[in-house]
Amino acid sequence: KHPPVTVIGLGMMGSALAHALLKQGYQTTVWNRTADKADKLAAQGAVVAGTVAEAISASPLVIICVLDYRVVSEILEQAGDTVHGRAIVNLTNGTPAQAHQTAAWASEQGVEYLDGGIMAVPQMIGSPEALLLYSGSQKIFDAYGPALESFGSARYLGPNPGLAPLHDLALLSAMYGMFGGFFHAVAMIRSAQLQAETFTSLVVPWLQAMSASLPHLAQAVDAGEHQTKVSSLHINQTGFVHFIDACRDLGISTELMTPIQELINRGVAEGYGTDGLSRLVELLRKPELA
Ligand code: NDP
Repeated sequence: KHPPVTVIGLGMMGSALAHALLKQGYQTTVWNRTADKADKLAAQGAVVAGTVAEAISASPLVIICVLDYRVVSEILEQAGDTVHGRAIVNLTNGTPAQAHQTAAWASEQGVEYLDGGIMAVPQMIGSPEALLLYSGSQKIFDAYGPALESFGSARYLGPNPGLAPLHDLALLSAMYGMFGGFFHAVAMIRSAQLQAETFTSLVVPWLQAMSASLPHLAQAVDAGEHQTKVSSLHINQTGFVHFIDACRDLGISTELMTPIQELINRGVAEGYGTDGLSRLVELLRKPELA
């Protein structure tokens, strides 16, 4: 019932993936460029392959998690004919275009290919809080679901292999936006010699309340209807000036905030002053011509 699985790449993430498979009782073969990173896993029962070809030959299901797609290609080239007929799941972070290229290579080689994005840190792997997004071969997702669920919750997004990296990068964009806003806010708070930790008692519930408005903004975007009863771009433009001025007075860099101000200004300049903030999505999709 438990198929053998190979894990290629034993960095922080690959080691966590191999560990999760061993914990679930999978016969796990591992390979890493720097061989001694396999020692701990060998002690837990992993079979250590001497070459990539040997690692790939050992299992019908091969998980790859390395630095980037360039390294993925280099490794798969070393595999030669051993890849034929295998199911390859690539959990390396990259772009939708890179996922499409790898899927095209796989189909030429007679390889089933599932791309994936890991929405977790290594310490979360093996718990349901770790979310893994998959796209590409549904055959792999259906056949090896339980093995993939050893890593965490598994979500299949569709046969287009680029969908997992697209969603991965979109979620990370939202995360960096939130962190950027938080860091800017904390810089403001620290300028008054106040404790950042005390501030979290205000900012965490505030962000939770604001995130409740995301589905409404999303509905406006989907419908292309940006009229608002909440707040117009024009009023946000007016408020933003005070906000930037205050930061300059406090000696706080506005470098994370001015791009948002510029986008709001462009919306007003293009005649959308009475629209709500959801209009900004349309502006991002139509970049200003240089
Ligand atoms: P690490 O830096 O810990 O590991 C990188 C891995 O890539 C190592 O196995 C390394 O081998 C291998 N590698 C790098 N260059 C080469 C090469 N030229 N040839 C062969 N192997 C090579 O990174 P992580 O494990 O943290 O990340 C791996 C992937 O997982 C990345 O795509 C990352 O974006 C993604 N990821 C990581 C998360 C995290 O929190 N860590 C979260 C979500 C995704 P060697 O040991 O020999 O150097």
